[in-house]
Order: sequence, then structure tokens, then C-alpha cells
Amino acid sequence: MVSIAIDGPAGAGKSTIAKTVSKKLGYIYVDTGALYRTVSLKFSAAGATPEKIENVDEILSNLSVNIEFKDGEQRMILDGVDVTDKIRTPEVSMMASAVSAIPAVRAFLLETQRRLARENNVIMDGRDIGTVVLPDAKIKIFLTASPEARADRRYKELIEKGMDVKYDDVLSDIIKRDHNDSTRAVAPLKPAEDSIFVDTSGNTLEESVAALSEIIERELANV
Ligand code: C5P
Repeated sequence: MVSIAIDGPAGAGKSTIAKTVSKKLGYIYVDTGALYRTVSLKFSAAGATPEKIENVDEILSNLSVNIEFKDGEQRMILDGVDVTDKIRTPEVSMMASAVSAIPAVRAFLLETQRRLARENNVIMDGRDIGTVVLPDAKIKIFLTASPEARADRRYKELIEKGMDVKYDDVLSDIIKRDHNDSTRAVAPLKPAEDSIFVDTSGNTLEESVAALSEIIERELANV
């Protein structure tokens, strides 16, 4: 099985690019951020906030998270309930970032991610795919862009979904999440040493998709 890892900060265009390229290649696309988002819903339901998270082991031992693929789309199932449509809010983003810094949470989700890559050709996106989850991935890409370019993209996405958000709040959430994700002790966001570094600032999403497709196809021809 072939694995392609795409890591990088929020809003760099990882998911759009990974979705498009995986369709072209006939691979499955695995969005690992959705796993952390889903787990964070359970913590929120238990009364946790990004500042105060307690009873981690107890919550994890009563939790089941599954990924299903319906019509090629990833659905997230929490304790038997499809929560896919609930995990994209700014509040869930911040909670996911807090929960993902807990080593027990990362350990809990590791095998699910590795199993998907053992059983399928995958393009997996996240923060630590090339460094921790799939260190032997055939191709590793670190995709980034300036915080402003990423906030701009994310803001437009949220507005398109009908959410009532302000650009300044989206930008400050992105800066906060970058900080949380790259300074945590376990599996911090950082490029793998053998990754290809791509900065998409100033590109349209279409240009980024085209550039990445070309890089991946070229690299695949070499493996
Ligand atoms: O990718 P997405 O923005 O949906 O991820 C939500 C949060 O989940 C990130 O801010 C990060 O804290 C966490 N995450 C992670 N490791 C991954 C994927 C996501 O820590 N592989």
C-alpha cells in the first residue's frame, strides 16, 4: 500500500488538495483532524473547556470513534452517531487543538490512523503524519502559507457555510492554534526532515492544487 502524508497548519489548503489528488489517484483521503475534532466533542459534552480538561482516561475508556467512507466521503461516527456535520465550527477547532495536546488522546487515535494506511492506499492529512503516524510514507509534503492567507481562505469557507464569523477572530484563532500545535510536547506540528516544503501564499487554491498534483505525480513516478 502507498501512503502520502500531507502535514501543515490550519487553512493551508491541505484537505482540498488532498481530496482532489486522492480522487485522481483512486486513493482514499483521510482527514485526521476530523478524529481530534470528533474526540473533542465528547470532552466538551463532559464539561471540558480548552482551558480545563479533566478525567481524560475515563472519557477515553467510554468513547468509540469510527471513520466511515460513504460515496467517497469521510463520515465521523462518535458512539454510533454520525457527527460529521457538527465538527467544523470555530469552537470545535479550538477544543480539538487543546485535546490533541494530551498524549493519551494521541495514543488513543494512533492505531486507527495506521490501520487505515495498512489497508488502503491513502493520502492522509494532519500535523504529525510524516513525523509520527506514518514515518515511512512514500511521499511527505509540508504545506503552509502565511497566517493571513490561511485566515482569508478559512474566513471565506466559513462564510460560505453560512456561519457568522469575523475575519479578525478567524485570524487570531489560526495564530493561537498554530502556537498550540507547534509548541506542544508530543507530536508537534513540524516538517518531517524528508518532506517537500510547499508555501501556497499568494496562490489561488486551483494553482496550489495543480502544483501539488504535479509534485505528487512526479514523486510517485520515482518510487
Ligand atoms: O486539521 P484540522 O484543523 O481539522 O485539525 C484540528 C486540530 O486537530 C488541529 O488544530 C490540531 O490541534 C489537531 N490535529 C493534530 N494532529 C493531526 C491532525 C489534527 O494534532 N494529525
